[in-house]
Amino acid sequence: MDMPEVIPVCYCGNPAKLNTSWSNDNPGRRFFGCKKFSSAFRKPCRFFSLFDPPLTPRLRVVLLGLLKKVKSLEDARKRERRTWILVLIAAVIHG
Ligand SMILES: [Zn+2]
Repeated sequence: MDMPEVIPVCYCGNPAKLNTSWSNDNPGRRFFGCKKFSSAFRKPCRFFSLFDPPLTPRLRVVLLGLLKKVKSLEDARKRERRTWILVLIAAVIHG
């Protein structure tokens, strides 16, 4: 992973944190945000600065397709595990 040479300072005076966005508009795109933003900070500062250049439309489509595939595989695995647990419970009860 390439690291930024200069870390921006957010509105509350702390060095900003490099995060990765997983939104549909910017999958995998990194941005700087306030490191207190996600915590229960009373008045979160809205510092936001993009680090990576924008994705090409083609790359965005490819990435979103991959994300969708990963999610469906994970869902299938969860369903499978649940089925197995039910089979085991039935075996214990009736066995
Ligand atoms: Zn801040």
